[in-house]
Order: sequence, then structure tokens, then C-alpha cells
Amino acid sequence: MKMKITAVGGYNAVGRNMTGVTVGGETIAVDNGLRLDTLQLYDTESYEMRKFKLDELVRMKIIPDHKMLDNVIAQVVSHGHLDHVGGTMFTKPKVPIITTPYAAEIGRKEYKEGDFYARGYGDPFDVKSRSNQELRVELIEITHSIPHTSIPVLYTPEGIVVYANDFKLDNHSKIAAPDYHRLKQIGKEGVKAFIVESVRAGETGKTPSEMVARANVKDVFESIADSKGLIISTTFSSHIERIQAILDMAEYMGRVPVILGRSLHFQVQLAKRFGLLEIPPHAEIFANAKAVGNALKKIDKGRREDYLLLVTGHQGEQKSVLCRMADSKFPFGFRKKDNIVFCTEVIPNPVNETNRYVLERKLKSFGVRIFRDIHVSGHASKEDHRRLLNLLKPERIIPAHGGIEMRANYANLASEEGYEINKNVHLLDNGSSIEI
Ligand SMILES: [Zn+2]
Repeated sequence: MKMKITAVGGYNAVGRNMTGVTVGGETIAVDNGLRLDTLQLYDTESYEMRKFKLDELVRMKIIPDHKMLDNVIAQVVSHGHLDHVGGTMFTKPKVPIITTPYAAEIGRKEYKEGDFYARGYGDPFDVKSRSNQELRVELIEITHSIPHTSIPVLYTPEGIVVYANDFKLDNHSKIAAPDYHRLKQIGKEGVKAFIVESVRAGETGKTPSEMVARANVKDVFESIADSKGLIISTTFSSHIERIQAILDMAEYMGRVPVILGRSLHFQVQLAKRFGLLEIPPHAEIFANAKAVGNALKKIDKGRREDYLLLVTGHQGEQKSVLCRMADSKFPFGFRKKDNIVFCTEVIPNPVNETNRYVLERKLKSFGVRIFRDIHVSGHASKEDHRRLLNLLKPERIIPAHGGIEMRANYANLASEEGYEINKNVHLLDNGSSIEI
């Protein structure tokens, strides 16, 4: 009896992650994501894609080719980013979906009838095997750029599989901490296969803590604290720690935070429910276009220095609040003293780069002040990877989440640590598998 690992999605480009781990003829699927940049080609919201057949979504490379996996008895999801959980709304797995509480809520939003099991860290889930195999899933706490990110660990009769996709090692996060102790223990128990993201494996050094982003946010906002103009900021809707830093600055400047946009509305309320975000009591939050329009109308007529807006649109998404503001789709006009603060960087793909270029050109035409790239990554750099690798000391490594260049960067790091490509480091493409 052997273990088979199948690369389903996320092994040729960033996005639509899915890996199969098969033991004794039964498969646990890990992650089930969308590819967001491809989705954007169709200029639509993910739920609007439901009109397409699954085969078409696979052809468009929006979801992983889930049919590659046979006899799936459980679906594990590492965290709530859509490139890890977003596929479940289309493929609708009819098996237990094991994930963290925050990610389970994100999954349930679009796949209401899904059999989500929200597990805390260190609260293992016994997967029901049809052939009485002992299969167990444990979620280990790790830091990333969304609350409740985990490193899933699969305990199987053929050995332990660790899945670190995505993660960073942030020792100063205010909402999470890497569980080095547990990771080291598992390393001592013996890890048969280590599936690991490689998005920034080629970056020298260590990814800075979110503490650095917090300081940068503070630095920029302090510099415009006396501005008579409006402050409009934008960031990832699920980056709750970053959002907290922005809301804290609104408090510091004595401005009313006004949060505008559907995805921000959903994430902010969710994080508040989990006690992960403190929203100032006088904050205003609006989701739908009409309510957003009314709020902007009021702000446009009021004292601009009284408000700090947090809006959707950090990547220049065409249906976002910021893009619609720039297109004068709301009863609102930019003025010269207004400040736009991008608390993100542009995710490097042609769609985002184009969208952001267009958005910034439009914004500049109003004469507003623009601050950009206030950001640190949520993905591990080379030395973070080395640290985790040395804690786990796996027998085999399967670099995931990235094109061949990114995964080769991980393979290079592994070879520095004594591993050999094709012997115990395996560069799989979407659709390929190995038996170990
Ligand atoms: Zn992620």
C-alpha cells in the first residue's frame, strides 16, 4: 500500500489550489480554490459564474479539475482566501469540509448546504473512512493575511502529510501566532510528505511582519492627519489586521470611519463577530450601491476632514466602489486636496496591472494625492521557508502554489538543505501525481 499525491490545481500558476492525498483507495482533497485573475477576465463576481457548467469553468482555468480525484471522502481547506476555498461554491463537495471557523463562514456564504466542520487549532477531526482506515486531520495555527489560517496535517496509515499553503512566519501579528512548538513535534513524529507554497520562495531573506505594515500605515496617515481633504483608503477586504490598523488611524485623527463595499461589509462584520476586529462605535458601514451612493452624497456635502473612507477597489476591480467613484457613478466628486491611500501592492498579473493603471490615471485627473504600496506580503520568503523546512524535516517535498519558476525556487532552497530534485523533491504539474 502506498500514498498517492495528485497535483490538481495551483501547480502551473498562482490560484485554484487543490491537491489530492490518496491512501488505501480513499482520497482527501486539500483546498478547492478559484483562480482570481482568470475570473476577472470575465469581469464578473464569482457567484455570477454559476451559470457556467463545471467543465467550462475547468476549461477557463477558473476552478481545479476536481474530477481528477477518485473516491474523495473529505475536503480540507487551509484558509478562507478564495483561491483556496472559492471552488467549493461550484464543485459543491458532498463530503465533510474541514476548515477553520473563519474560513467555514466564508465557505458557507456561497455554499450554504455545504457540510462544513469548523475546527479550532489542535482539535483533530477523524475522517470517516469507508474501509475503516484511521484518517485524521489536524489544523495548526499559522500566520498569513486572513484570520484563522492553518497548516493542515493529515495523519494516515501511510504516514503524515503536512500542507503549508499559504503562510508566513509573523511573530508580531496581533491576531495569530505560528505554532512552532506543534510543528516541531510533528517534525519529530516524522513527516512523509510536505506540500508547500512557493509564491515568494525566490525572495531573499524574511517576509516582514505585519507590524512593519502597521508602522507604514501609521507613518503615511500621520503625514496627512492635518489634511483638509477626504482620506480614502483601500486594502484587501479579508486582511483584517490591516483594516484594524486603518481604523485605528481614523480614531487617532478623529475622523469618522466609513466602510463602503460588499466584500468589506461581509468581512468586517464576520471579523467583528469572531472578536478579531474592533470597529469604532461611530463607524458607518454600507454594502449595496444605493446605500454607498447615499453615504457618498452626504460626505460630498459635508466637511471632508471629518471622514476616513475605507473602500473596495485596491486592485482596480471595475465593479469596486473606488472605480465607480473614479467613473463618477456616484453623487460624489473628488477634490484636489483629497488623499487616496492604497494599503496594498498590485498583485502582479496583467489584469490587475492594467486595472490599477487605468484607475490611477483616472484618479490623477482629479488632482488628488496618491499614496501606494503600503504593504507587506502574506507569503513566506526564502529564509522563512528554510525555517519551517528545518522544523518539519520531511522525507519528501512537493512545492505547490506557483508556476514552475516559483516552485523551482523552492526546489533550489530544498537542495541547499540536502534534498535532491526527483529523488525527494517533486515538481508536479497540474494533472500529474506521484506514489510514495
Ligand atoms: Zn492565502
